[in-house]
Amino acid sequence: MSELDTLIQLLAKLPGLGPRSARRAALHLLKRRQSLLEPLAAALAKAAEAVRPCPICGNLDTVLPCAICRDPERDDRAICVVEDLADLWALERTGAFRGRYHVLGGTLSALDGVGPEDLNIERLVERLRPGQELILALNATVEGQTTAHYLAERVAGRGVKLSRLAQGVPIGGELDYLDDGTLTAALKARQAL
Ligand SMILES: [Zn+2]
Repeated sequence: MSELDTLIQLLAKLPGLGPRSARRAALHLLKRRQSLLEPLAAALAKAAEAVRPCPICGNLDTVLPCAICRDPERDDRAICVVEDLADLWALERTGAFRGRYHVLGGTLSALDGVGPEDLNIERLVERLRPGQELILALNATVEGQTTAHYLAERVAGRGVKLSRLAQGVPIGGELDYLDDGTLTAALKARQAL
């Protein structure tokens, strides 16, 4: 197989890219050798060499433990559990949370054969201290909620305060457009004015 075929096959494995868009991306890269292809190749090599998962929380960083675990300004009393790094980044963009994180690396799924031992759960249980709040910021999917239930059972009796993200009406959302499940959740989680 030629180098070009290999490049296209690898690009096609990226999320959101199929064989057709992978061919277009490969052509795009080859046409921009100096401005894109070579810097990208160098950045990939550097990332592969330097970026590692944090042994405490599972976040990715070039220095271990990661910047969030090292930050003395952050509040040790709250750990926010997320499914993936993308969720950690999303929460960090809000600037609304100043505690620590724990990245599970997926969710429990009987269908896909993902069990507790496949996720970063043991390290979470080990790092928990009585009096801490554990915020389960998992996706509002069947897998996310199954994982939240499992974690709640797993940490029961350890003196940890459990919470989860609220579900309901999104900012700027119109009631008429919401699905029944979201609307029901919003009604149940209503707040006093
Ligand atoms: Zn960390």
